[in-house]
Amino acid sequence: MSLEPATLWHATAAPLPAFDRLAGQHEADLLVIGGGFAGLSTALHAAQKGLSVILVEAHRVAWGATGRNAGFVVPNFAKVDPDEVRARLGDRAEALISMAAGSGDLVFNLIRRHQIDCDAAQVGWIQPSHSDAAFAKAQDRVRQWSALGRPVQRLDAAEVTALTGVSGWRGGWIDRSGGVVNPVGYARGLARAAAEAGARVYEETPVTALIRKGAQWCATTAAGQILARKVVLATNAYVGKLWPDLARNFFPLRVFQIATAPLPAAIRQRILPEGQCVSDSRRNLFTMRFDAQNRLISGGMHMLALGADGRVPRGIHRRLMHMLAMPDLPPLAYQWSGIAAVMPDFLPRVVDLGPDLIAGFACNGRGIALSTAMGRELSDWAGGTPIRALALPSRAANNIPLHGLSRMAPNALLPISMLRDRMESRRNI
Ligand SMILES: Cc1cc2nc3c(=O)[nH]c(=O)nc-3n(C[C@H](O)[C@H](O)[C@H](O)COP(=O)(O)OP(=O)(O)OC[C@H]3O[C@@H](n4cnc5c(N)ncnc54)[C@H](O)[C@@H]3O)c2cc1C
Repeated sequence: MSLEPATLWHATAAPLPAFDRLAGQHEADLLVIGGGFAGLSTALHAAQKGLSVILVEAHRVAWGATGRNAGFVVPNFAKVDPDEVRARLGDRAEALISMAAGSGDLVFNLIRRHQIDCDAAQVGWIQPSHSDAAFAKAQDRVRQWSALGRPVQRLDAAEVTALTGVSGWRGGWIDRSGGVVNPVGYARGLARAAAEAGARVYEETPVTALIRKGAQWCATTAAGQILARKVVLATNAYVGKLWPDLARNFFPLRVFQIATAPLPAAIRQRILPEGQCVSDSRRNLFTMRFDAQNRLISGGMHMLALGADGRVPRGIHRRLMHMLAMPDLPPLAYQWSGIAAVMPDFLPRVVDLGPDLIAGFACNGRGIALSTAMGRELSDWAGGTPIRALALPSRAANNIPLHGLSRMAPNALLPISMLRDRMESRRNI
């Protein structure tokens, strides 16, 4: 398996010298397994607390979903809003809600503080509404998040068109604390900051076994061993065989991304003139943003895995042409895919895997902001905060029923989702 996937972000991010492979015997207060946003943020914040930290990544930093995403910084939950979180979690809700609400600011503050070169722009995230019901929900979302002091705003249809260059949406809303980054640049910057704070970062070092030895955990790698008091599994959807039970706790969702060749400056001006990122309210959501070189980026999912690598990127490109009414859209320049871990209830959580061993999941399409914020929480756990006092809900490993079949549901149900989207839309957007 290659050490770096061929994404736009890997091709254009500021380089980072490779970290060594781990060899020999090592000890640490905290071992973090996985070099994505969750692991890197955990390692950075734990090292800043004065803990001795080792982070090991099987490939290079940002190999997983972290390097393959769209770079949208979205400071809220997918599909769930504060009122519903309160109804579900009771008095444990407020800490999680404020973690999410502040997560965009956390990302951009880290970027400023550590001078991370990643084309960051805190210009906002827009969610246009495809139907009247979705617009009503958008207005309710504005009510709920503005009550928390967030810089959110309702947008009418004309305002959405002016901000996106696309007509046909019913309205929408914007959270101006969101924005865009080059995710590989951001992850590499976090890795550098973690190392500067004292964390020992190793690449090309897959952990092949993790066992309890007395009061510690012992992780085995190809050329060494690590003894650690506490362990964070930050492997997300890429956990593989290391902890098979964990893989049955989420739905793995394969998501494709494309980038066009750069758009001419004159056309660039009328699409997303302020540079926000957009993901609309449809179940088969439409997304778009520009990178720093005016390439247009969008994403989508597959129904059938067979032949998806060729078919799906072409379909995403066609959808972009349709949405922008631009038959002469520049051709595809990059295409890639990654696996996101979707939790059944769409909320971030920690999974308690035994004494001093936890895994964190914050994805659901919000992994940049929420995984960064989750990492700070996990570092508190490493420093002694009990799991139940963290902002994230926790639970023991809990297999999703019939996981072998149900794991295919998000992709298999896509045609039904598309049909429902179309029936609800006022216009064929
Ligand atoms: C295509 C796509 C688009 C997305 N778009 C967005 C977006 O625009 N905005 C957003 O906020 N979120 C988005 N997401 C979600 C986001 O990318 C993820 O939530 C986030 O990157 C997860 O980070 P992570 O650190 O938990 O996991 P990952 O980035 O997946 O990292 C896990 C790492 O663990 C390593 N690993 C696994 N096993 C071992 C082992 N045994 N030993 C050592 N290392 C190991 C892997 O190599 C991998 O690098 C998207 C996801 C996908 C797939």
